Amino acid sequence: MRYELVCGIETHIELATKTKIFCNCTTQFGGDPNTHCCPVCTGQPGSLPILNKKVVEYAVRAGLAVHCKINNISHMDRKNYVYPDLPKAYQISQYDEPICEHGYIELDSGKRIGITRIHIEEDAGKLVHENGYTYIDYNRGGVPLIEIVSEPDISSPEEAKEYAEKLQLIMRYVGISDCKMQEGSMRCDVNVSLREAGTKEFGTRTETKNINSLNYIQKAMYAEIERQTDILEEGGTIVQQTMRYDDVSDSVSPMREKENSDDYRYFPDPDIIRFEVSQDKVDKIQASLPELPFDKLKRYINELELPEATSKLIFKYRRVAEFFEEATSEGASVKNASNLITGTIYANMNTEEDKELFKVLISAKQFALLVKLLDDKKINFKMAQSTLQQMLESGKSAEEFIKAEDLAGISDEDLTKLCKEAIAANPKAVEDIKAGKDRAINSMFGYIMKQTKGKADVKKAEAIIRDLISKI
Ligand code: ADP
Ligand code: MG
Ligand code: ZN
Repeated sequence: MRYELVCGIETHIELATKTKIFCNCTTQFGGDPNTHCCPVCTGQPGSLPILNKKVVEYAVRAGLAVHCKINNISHMDRKNYVYPDLPKAYQISQYDEPICEHGYIELDSGKRIGITRIHIEEDAGKLVHENGYTYIDYNRGGVPLIEIVSEPDISSPEEAKEYAEKLQLIMRYVGISDCKMQEGSMRCDVNVSLREAGTKEFGTRTETKNINSLNYIQKAMYAEIERQTDILEEGGTIVQQTMRYDDVSDSVSPMREKENSDDYRYFPDPDIIRFEVSQDKVDKIQASLPELPFDKLKRYINELELPEATSKLIFKYRRVAEFFEEATSEGASVKNASNLITGTIYANMNTEEDKELFKVLISAKQFALLVKLLDDKKINFKMAQSTLQQMLESGKSAEEFIKAEDLAGISDEDLTKLCKEAIAANPKAVEDIKAGKDRAINSMFGYIMKQTKGKADVKKAEAIIRDLISKI
């Protein structure tokens, strides 16, 4: 039997607001356990949540970035469950009136993966298992999250990885989160089912929770597809379950029976009234979005005619792209600017995070001035590279490192002076030229080239020499 994969992904992303979703506690990662907490985010009786406006704004930003429709009216619901990471015994989330719906992400193939919905909710605390005890750290409790739910449109582990990678890039670009999977600010739940190739109906799915790297998405899916295929081929049935992926053994194992939404007894949270995001506000947020990364990539390739490989090295990191664009708007050429960035500047950046943060001591303007020297052939590429390296180390401008005599392109004045010297030193050649022996001029070029270390413009020198001789 041949099976076909059906996959949908739920992605949790921690929003980069300064404070939590319902209180003023900091959202900062880390810190001593239970130091970023208050009665609200530890769910103490009598405390009341107040919805953070920024959270709503960030969720709308995220939605617009993936072409969602924004619901102007929305509300929060209680999702009831009992687990020590959630002291209230319910999570404040959104159920039937999510803030964003009906978006998509386009893959390189042109295929669109639908986004069903994006809703806002609070994160739970963290359980720490140590020496046979379990400790609870509520610092993460109440950190704002968005959950982005995809349609079951994904048909291979490669598509799944590409979807998550694109989602991560877009969300970083619009500045709502750093989306660090290894720190948990982006986590994916991957739903996998198989069906007989060619049939329409979906098979029973499992959900592998909290995957914390792009590669593990792919690996977990391969492992789960294999596990389900084995069961189906032996005539068994798939149980709807919540699974866990273990990267050490590269295998997927059941964690618990999967709950249905009925189990959560969702109901509207009576502590938070329905809220409105006016269309005017939505329009303002839309207008404040930067050019989206994949639009930028297309523009680099099609309009700037930058090679695809180079474009891909630059567009990914918003700060790099901005630096590059500022330099070219200052007059630097696209080709030399991009080559120096991906060559010399990147050689100073070891990690993806370095490029993401893009901390350089020089401004795009200083960089552009250097690139223009190269564009005008005043210096060669090697010199541009070594100068740039010194600039990056010191924060100083190019003129600090390039001496006048390093610059090619001799001024007209200097060239005329040299031509006069050449004529004075070669009376025989002057006579020959006057007598029509044109090639005699070569001996004068020799002199000029020697004096300028080969940097003089020969054509220009010839014109000047002929002019001077005609006047003798
Ligand atoms: P829950 O919140 O209980 O996990 P949802 O209906 O919100 O359930 O679906 C969660 C995710 O599972 C969505 O991304 C959806 O596309 C995906 N999904 C739903 N049915 C299937 C299926 N049969 N196989 C694979 N993925 C599925
Ligand atoms: Mg789910
Ligand atoms: Zn708090």
